[in-house]
Amino acid sequence: MGQEARRLADEYEVAEILGRGGFSVVRKGISRKAGTSAKNNVAIKTLKRPFGGSSSSSSSSKNSSFSPGLKQGFPVPTRKQVSISNVLLTNEILVMRKIVENVSPHPNVIDLYDVYEDENGVHLVLELCSGGELFDRIVKQERYSEAGAAAVVRQIAQGLAALHKSDIVHRDLKPENCLFLNSSDDSPLKIMDFGLSSVEEFTDPVVGLFGSIDYVSPEALSQGQITFKSDMWALGVILYILLSGYPPFIAQSNRQKQQMIMAGEFSFYEKTWKGISLSAKQLISDLLKVDPEKRPSAQELLDHPWVVGLSAREDQMDAEIVSRLQSFNARRKLRAAAIASVWTSSIFLRTKKLKSLLGSHDLKQEEIQNLSLHFKKICVKGDNATLSEFVE
Ligand code: ATP
Repeated sequence: MGQEARRLADEYEVAEILGRGGFSVVRKGISRKAGTSAKNNVAIKTLKRPFGGSSSSSSSSKNSSFSPGLKQGFPVPTRKQVSISNVLLTNEILVMRKIVENVSPHPNVIDLYDVYEDENGVHLVLELCSGGELFDRIVKQERYSEAGAAAVVRQIAQGLAALHKSDIVHRDLKPENCLFLNSSDDSPLKIMDFGLSSVEEFTDPVVGLFGSIDYVSPEALSQGQITFKSDMWALGVILYILLSGYPPFIAQSNRQKQQMIMAGEFSFYEKTWKGISLSAKQLISDLLKVDPEKRPSAQELLDHPWVVGLSAREDQMDAEIVSRLQSFNARRKLRAAAIASVWTSSIFLRTKKLKSLLGSHDLKQEEIQNLSLHFKKICVKGDNATLSEFVE
């Protein structure tokens, strides 16, 4: 394919920041082409390369574009000598490419319209989701019932079923990766953020170390094989929170929490759960089975009586649940902001902050070393920007 030089700025006016992630900044983009297509307003996710280095050996010139036509496929960066962030961005591009080829357009999976690359990084031009994050919307709702929660689970299950059918495991499913397309009451919910997803097998415990381990499955924590069923576990955790306002595994330290997750040790406290239907509780228990084989698949979930709405209660849920969800959501946002700030710091500050963050994750020095080694492994030989730089 020819490497026609196309510049993002020639085609989109880049507007306000919509959000920041560990390795990215997401801005609104407005197409310079006239027209009213939904593609005129987009989200531009710029995956930064904080450690320098080229993300692409297939892209010979700067300001080049990976993709004049996504459906025809586009060259992707090789995995040689890339940094941590580059591994994640390379992976996200690979997964998004597969989504474009096999899943899009899907009402519950974010669509990728285009990809550009320049000296600032790689820019993914994505479908704009202006309806906000899942929990943000739920806590603002005046009426919230099991049936409302079931509608959310149904949409996530539909998205997962399509992804899983195309052999894509999300691996980082959590409420903040589920965004509403628009602000209407019947807006579709979209699954996004495929930075840690897989189109091929490689396991890593990184998922739980930079984010929260709340949604991480027992098999991921024990470094076993991560499968589609790991996404189903995460959906079980989301459902538990949706119906109670707090996560199923709560402990003083991450180490303790990890043990509880691996043992599948959770309960339905009578006080909180007495008003919730048996069918919902049974479904959560099925999704939170330690043995992945015993969890229902996304496709099976779509036939479940609670998920289709037959056994989900229609009456208003206890107001306490929503207020607990509100505090849970606020705490989570604070933590995400702290983590994002670590990656925007200078290397010196990052070293200190990362140390304290890893400390708060209850890791021993030898485990930090292991983690560093693990990073080396996933970052491919020859990489000089591994975690060891920060923790030594
Ligand atoms: P993380 O560190 O959580 O993995 P990330 O670097 O992969 O994050 P995203 O989670 O994809 O980044 O995006 C960061 C934020 O930008 C999101 O929380 C969301 O608020 C906003 N955002 C991302 N994609 C879109 C979109 N398509 N439409 C609107 N806002 C978006």
